[in-house]
Amino acid sequence: CGIVGYTGFQDAYEVVINGLRRLEYRGYDSAGIVLENSNSVFSVSKTKGKVDDLVAISGNLAGTAHIGMGHTRWATHGVPSDRNSHPHLSNNGKIALVHNGIIENYDTLKIMLTEKGFTFHSETDTEVLVNLIQYIMDINEEMDFPTAVRYALNEVFGAYAITVMHEDFPGVLVVARLGSPLAIGLGNNEYFIASDASPFVEFTKEAVYLEEGHMATISLENGVDIRNIKDNVKITPEVQQLKL
Ligand code: GLU
Repeated sequence: CGIVGYTGFQDAYEVVINGLRRLEYRGYDSAGIVLENSNSVFSVSKTKGKVDDLVAISGNLAGTAHIGMGHTRWATHGVPSDRNSHPHLSNNGKIALVHNGIIENYDTLKIMLTEKGFTFHSETDTEVLVNLIQYIMDINEEMDFPTAVRYALNEVFGAYAITVMHEDFPGVLVVARLGSPLAIGLGNNEYFIASDASPFVEFTKEAVYLEEGHMATISLENGVDIRNIKDNVKITPEVQQLKL
């Protein structure tokens, strides 16, 4: 199980796929990727199997984007299958999310969202979270995307490392962690996200390890903005010098 995210000047497909390979040692049963092209349109590719299987079906995405994220899944809710693989999209197709961990109260949230008209295409706990973010934005039209992610996270119990993207908020990666690790690599006009530093250590030696209960909004435009998920208090990050 692993997460890789990227925004910068490089080919996001290459960075994400190579990053997923470096996280393979963690074990997984499925792999997936979402890229956002220069027209802010998502392309998703995902499959049961290995990163090599993902590459076999997604090679057409190489060279199409400078921002994206990928996932290797270790199934906890729902069998290993193409449909249960991440990224998961919200019902309106605009929000993409990858998740490591478990959303403990997904069943009550799923009932609530189903009553509101949401449909589900997988058996995962993760798909509940991405639709909860959409629902919060649906009922609060002025709310910006990172705030909606924060509100949603305050409704869930469990353990997670997540990365989220929204088609209407191009160039933005929102990440959060509670109980699962997540590191942010600080490059020159590029940022990396990964479950550990191994996917980006070849590109930068500066990293921020996201702490428990923290989230970050990352964009080339505004840099890395770290907040406490509970109360939105801004956090000054401690930058580590990697010696790997
Ligand atoms: N609970 C999620 C699922 O079963 C994420 C599993 C993981 O950590 O990869 O899809």
